[in-house]
Amino acid sequence: REKIYLETDKLSTISQLSASVSHEVRNPLTVTKGFLQLLYNDNVPEEKRKSYIDLALSELYRGEAIITDFLSLTKSNQETVPLDVVKELNYVTNIIYPYALMNKVDVQTSIEKEHVFVDGVASYFRQCFINIAKNGIEAIPNGGALQLTVKGNNTHVFIIIKDSGIGMTPKEVEKLGTRYFTTKDKGTGLGTPLIFRIVQSMNGSIDIKSQPGDGTEFKVTFPVSSFHSESA
Ligand code: ADP
Ligand code: MG
Repeated sequence: REKIYLETDKLSTISQLSASVSHEVRNPLTVTKGFLQLLYNDNVPEEKRKSYIDLALSELYRGEAIITDFLSLTKSNQETVPLDVVKELNYVTNIIYPYALMNKVDVQTSIEKEHVFVDGVASYFRQCFINIAKNGIEAIPNGGALQLTVKGNNTHVFIIIKDSGIGMTPKEVEKLGTRYFTTKDKGTGLGTPLIFRIVQSMNGSIDIKSQPGDGTEFKVTFPVSSFHSESA
Protein backbone atom coordinates (compact mmCIF):
# COMPACT_ATOMS: atom_id res chain seq x y z
CA ARG A 1 0.00 0.00 0.00
CA GLU A 2 1.38 3.31 -1.00
CA LYS A 3 0.06 6.81 -1.12
CA ILE A 4 1.37 9.40 -3.49
CA TYR A 5 0.45 13.04 -3.42
CA LEU A 6 1.46 15.34 -6.18
CA GLU A 7 2.32 18.97 -5.98
CA THR A 8 1.43 21.63 -8.46
CA ASP A 9 4.12 22.49 -10.89
CA LYS A 10 2.09 22.99 -14.05
CA LEU A 11 2.98 22.40 -17.62
CA SER A 12 6.71 23.14 -17.78
CA THR A 13 7.33 19.54 -16.73
CA ILE A 14 5.32 18.31 -19.71
CA SER A 15 7.41 20.23 -22.22
CA GLN A 16 10.58 19.01 -20.53
CA LEU A 17 9.26 15.49 -20.78
CA SER A 18 8.39 15.76 -24.47
CA ALA A 19 11.89 17.04 -25.22
CA SER A 20 13.28 13.92 -23.57
CA VAL A 21 10.88 11.78 -25.57
CA SER A 22 12.11 13.16 -28.89
CA HIS A 23 15.55 12.23 -27.70
CA GLU A 24 14.39 8.73 -26.74
CA VAL A 25 12.76 8.08 -30.11
CA ARG A 26 16.00 8.92 -31.85
CA ASN A 27 17.77 5.93 -30.21
CA PRO A 28 15.64 3.19 -31.78
CA LEU A 29 15.84 5.00 -35.12
CA THR A 30 19.63 5.06 -34.94
CA VAL A 31 19.78 1.38 -34.02
CA THR A 32 17.41 0.44 -36.86
CA LYS A 33 19.43 2.50 -39.33
CA GLY A 34 22.55 0.61 -38.25
CA PHE A 35 20.94 -2.79 -38.83
CA LEU A 36 19.61 -1.76 -42.24
CA GLN A 37 23.10 -0.66 -43.23
CA LEU A 38 24.47 -4.05 -42.11
CA LEU A 39 21.79 -5.85 -44.14
CA TYR A 40 22.83 -3.90 -47.22
CA ASN A 41 25.95 -6.05 -47.27
CA ASP A 42 25.49 -9.26 -49.33
CA ASN A 43 27.91 -11.27 -47.19
CA VAL A 44 25.68 -11.38 -44.12
CA PRO A 45 24.88 -15.06 -43.33
CA GLU A 46 21.21 -16.03 -43.47
CA GLU A 47 20.69 -16.54 -39.73
CA LYS A 48 22.43 -13.23 -38.91
CA ARG A 49 20.18 -11.54 -41.45
CA LYS A 50 17.07 -12.77 -39.62
CA SER A 51 18.31 -11.61 -36.26
CA TYR A 52 19.18 -8.15 -37.65
CA ILE A 53 15.69 -7.84 -39.04
CA ASP A 54 14.18 -8.97 -35.71
CA LEU A 55 16.26 -6.45 -33.79
CA ALA A 56 15.47 -3.63 -36.20
CA LEU A 57 11.77 -4.45 -35.98
CA SER A 58 11.72 -4.63 -32.21
CA GLU A 59 13.47 -1.26 -32.03
CA LEU A 60 10.84 0.19 -34.37
CA TYR A 61 8.09 -1.24 -32.15
CA ARG A 62 9.75 0.40 -29.17
CA GLY A 63 9.94 3.75 -30.94
CA GLU A 64 6.30 3.41 -31.84
CA ALA A 65 5.40 2.59 -28.21
CA ILE A 66 7.26 5.67 -26.97
CA ILE A 67 5.27 7.83 -29.36
CA THR A 68 1.99 6.15 -28.36
CA ASP A 69 2.67 6.82 -24.69
CA PHE A 70 3.29 10.46 -25.47
CA LEU A 71 0.71 11.06 -28.12
CA SER A 72 -0.47 14.67 -28.23
CA LEU A 73 2.20 16.01 -25.92
CA THR A 74 4.03 17.91 -28.62
CA LYS A 75 1.33 20.52 -28.80
CA SER A 76 2.23 23.18 -26.27
CA ASN A 77 0.19 26.00 -24.77
CA GLN A 78 -3.03 24.06 -24.79
CA GLU A 79 -5.97 25.86 -23.29
CA THR A 80 -7.56 24.49 -20.15
CA VAL A 81 -11.32 24.05 -20.45
CA PRO A 82 -14.02 22.37 -18.34
CA LEU A 83 -14.06 18.69 -19.36
CA ASP A 84 -17.07 16.43 -18.99
CA VAL A 85 -15.45 13.58 -17.05
CA VAL A 86 -17.88 10.83 -18.07
CA LYS A 87 -17.80 11.88 -21.73
CA GLU A 88 -13.99 11.89 -21.81
CA LEU A 89 -13.81 8.52 -20.04
CA ASN A 90 -16.26 7.07 -22.56
CA TYR A 91 -13.86 8.19 -25.26
CA VAL A 92 -11.06 6.38 -23.40
CA THR A 93 -13.01 3.13 -23.00
CA ASN A 94 -13.82 3.15 -26.72
CA ILE A 95 -10.15 3.57 -27.59
CA ILE A 96 -8.96 0.76 -25.31
CA TYR A 97 -11.86 -1.61 -26.06
CA PRO A 98 -10.14 -3.51 -28.93
CA TYR A 99 -6.97 -3.84 -26.87
CA ALA A 100 -8.95 -5.18 -23.91
CA LEU A 101 -10.78 -7.65 -26.14
CA MET A 102 -7.52 -8.88 -27.59
CA ASN A 103 -6.25 -9.52 -24.05
CA LYS A 104 -9.49 -11.15 -22.83
CA VAL A 105 -10.12 -8.30 -20.42
CA ASP A 106 -13.67 -7.36 -19.57
CA VAL A 107 -14.04 -3.59 -19.14
CA GLN A 108 -16.72 -2.70 -16.58
CA THR A 109 -17.87 0.85 -16.01
CA SER A 110 -19.72 2.19 -13.00
CA ILE A 111 -20.80 5.83 -13.09
CA GLU A 112 -21.94 7.02 -9.69
CA LYS A 113 -21.55 10.68 -10.56
CA GLU A 114 -22.62 12.17 -13.87
CA HIS A 115 -22.33 15.70 -15.32
CA VAL A 116 -19.19 16.40 -13.39
CA PHE A 117 -16.52 18.69 -14.86
CA VAL A 118 -12.79 19.14 -14.28
CA ASP A 119 -10.48 21.80 -15.74
CA GLY A 120 -7.95 20.40 -18.18
CA VAL A 121 -6.85 19.75 -21.75
CA ALA A 122 -8.92 16.99 -23.35
CA SER A 123 -6.03 15.29 -25.19
CA TYR A 124 -3.90 15.19 -22.01
CA PHE A 125 -6.77 13.91 -19.89
CA ARG A 126 -7.50 11.15 -22.43
CA GLN A 127 -3.86 10.20 -22.76
CA CYS A 128 -3.52 9.98 -18.99
CA PHE A 129 -6.40 7.51 -18.63
CA ILE A 130 -5.48 5.58 -21.78
CA ASN A 131 -2.07 4.99 -20.18
CA ILE A 132 -3.54 3.90 -16.83
CA ALA A 133 -6.01 1.56 -18.55
CA LYS A 134 -3.35 0.19 -20.89
CA ASN A 135 -1.10 -0.66 -17.95
CA GLY A 136 -4.04 -2.34 -16.23
CA ILE A 137 -4.76 -4.49 -19.28
CA GLU A 138 -1.08 -5.33 -19.73
CA ALA A 139 -0.95 -6.49 -16.10
CA ILE A 140 -3.58 -9.17 -16.85
CA PRO A 141 -1.87 -12.09 -18.58
CA ASN A 142 -4.73 -14.62 -18.75
CA GLY A 143 -7.89 -12.60 -18.97
CA GLY A 144 -9.72 -10.74 -16.24
CA ALA A 145 -11.42 -7.46 -15.50
CA LEU A 146 -10.72 -3.77 -15.61
CA GLN A 147 -13.18 -1.75 -13.56
CA LEU A 148 -13.67 1.94 -14.05
CA THR A 149 -15.62 3.89 -11.45
CA VAL A 150 -16.52 7.58 -11.28
CA LYS A 151 -17.54 9.03 -7.92
CA GLY A 152 -17.73 12.53 -6.62
CA ASN A 153 -18.83 15.05 -4.04
CA ASN A 154 -19.35 18.81 -4.20
CA THR A 155 -15.67 19.62 -4.44
CA HIS A 156 -13.91 16.60 -5.93
CA VAL A 157 -14.25 13.86 -8.50
CA PHE A 158 -12.73 10.42 -7.98
CA ILE A 159 -11.82 8.22 -10.92
CA ILE A 160 -10.92 4.68 -9.91
CA ILE A 161 -9.32 2.17 -12.28
CA LYS A 162 -8.96 -1.27 -10.82
CA ASP A 163 -7.43 -4.26 -12.57
CA SER A 164 -7.41 -7.94 -11.65
CA GLY A 165 -3.80 -8.22 -12.75
CA ILE A 166 -0.48 -9.33 -11.33
CA GLY A 167 -0.12 -6.38 -8.94
CA MET A 168 3.09 -4.78 -7.73
CA THR A 169 5.47 -5.05 -4.83
CA PRO A 170 5.80 -1.95 -2.60
CA LYS A 171 9.22 -1.37 -4.23
CA GLU A 172 7.65 -1.34 -7.68
CA VAL A 173 4.88 1.01 -6.54
CA GLU A 174 7.55 3.34 -5.23
CA LYS A 175 9.27 3.38 -8.62
CA LEU A 176 6.12 4.36 -10.49
CA GLY A 177 6.54 7.71 -12.16
CA THR A 178 10.29 7.27 -12.47
CA ARG A 179 11.28 7.71 -16.08
CA TYR A 180 12.27 4.47 -17.88
CA PHE A 181 11.19 2.18 -15.04
CA THR A 182 9.63 -0.83 -16.77
CA THR A 183 9.20 -4.54 -16.08
CA LYS A 184 8.08 -5.28 -19.66
CA ASP A 185 10.14 -6.61 -22.58
CA LYS A 186 8.97 -3.89 -24.90
CA GLY A 187 8.12 -1.34 -22.24
CA THR A 188 9.10 2.33 -22.36
CA GLY A 189 8.76 3.31 -18.72
CA LEU A 190 7.32 6.58 -19.96
CA GLY A 191 3.63 5.93 -19.39
CA THR A 192 3.46 6.56 -15.65
CA PRO A 193 5.70 9.67 -15.66
CA LEU A 194 3.22 11.07 -18.16
CA ILE A 195 0.24 10.08 -15.99
CA PHE A 196 1.79 11.79 -12.97
CA ARG A 197 2.69 14.98 -14.86
CA ILE A 198 -0.78 15.35 -16.32
CA VAL A 199 -2.56 14.77 -13.00
CA GLN A 200 -0.16 17.20 -11.37
CA SER A 201 -0.82 19.84 -14.03
CA MET A 202 -4.54 19.52 -13.26
CA ASN A 203 -4.02 19.98 -9.49
CA GLY A 204 -5.00 16.36 -8.93
CA SER A 205 -3.56 13.55 -6.86
CA ILE A 206 -3.09 9.80 -7.27
CA ASP A 207 -3.53 7.01 -4.73
CA ILE A 208 -2.20 3.60 -5.66
CA LYS A 209 -3.12 0.38 -3.94
CA SER A 210 -1.42 -2.73 -5.15
CA GLN A 211 -0.43 -6.14 -3.98
CA PRO A 212 1.41 -8.88 -5.89
CA GLY A 213 -1.16 -11.34 -7.20
CA ASP A 214 -4.04 -9.17 -6.12
CA GLY A 215 -4.33 -6.48 -8.79
CA THR A 216 -3.87 -2.76 -8.71
CA GLU A 217 -6.10 0.21 -8.05
CA PHE A 218 -5.36 3.71 -9.31
CA LYS A 219 -7.51 6.35 -7.65
CA VAL A 220 -7.21 9.75 -9.29
CA THR A 221 -8.72 12.75 -7.52
CA PHE A 222 -9.37 16.10 -9.21
CA PRO A 223 -10.97 19.28 -7.92
CA VAL A 224 -14.22 19.95 -9.80
CA SER A 225 -14.14 22.74 -12.37
CA SER A 226 -14.32 26.22 -10.96
CA PHE A 227 -16.07 27.44 -14.12
CA HIS A 228 -18.64 24.75 -14.37
CA SER A 229 -20.00 23.64 -11.02
CA GLU A 230 -23.08 21.55 -10.80
CA SER A 231 -26.01 22.89 -8.78
CA ALA A 232 -27.88 19.81 -7.63
P1 ADP B 1 5.55 0.53 -19.47
O1 ADP B 1 4.08 0.25 -19.47
O2 ADP B 1 6.07 0.86 -20.84
O3 ADP B 1 6.36 -0.54 -18.79
P2 ADP B 1 4.84 2.58 -17.58
O4 ADP B 1 5.53 3.81 -17.12
O5 ADP B 1 3.48 2.73 -18.14
O6 ADP B 1 5.81 1.88 -18.61
O7 ADP B 1 4.76 1.54 -16.38
C1 ADP B 1 5.96 1.27 -15.66
C2 ADP B 1 5.85 -0.05 -14.91
O8 ADP B 1 4.94 0.09 -13.83
C3 ADP B 1 5.33 -1.22 -15.70
O9 ADP B 1 6.34 -1.84 -16.48
C4 ADP B 1 4.81 -2.14 -14.60
O10 ADP B 1 5.86 -2.85 -14.01
C5 ADP B 1 4.30 -1.15 -13.55
N1 ADP B 1 2.84 -0.97 -13.63
C6 ADP B 1 2.17 0.14 -14.00
N2 ADP B 1 0.84 -0.05 -13.91
C7 ADP B 1 0.66 -1.30 -13.46
C8 ADP B 1 -0.51 -2.11 -13.14
N3 ADP B 1 -1.76 -1.64 -13.30
N4 ADP B 1 -0.29 -3.35 -12.67
C9 ADP B 1 0.95 -3.83 -12.50
N5 ADP B 1 2.07 -3.14 -12.78
C10 ADP B 1 1.93 -1.89 -13.26
MG1 MG C 1 2.57 1.68 -19.85
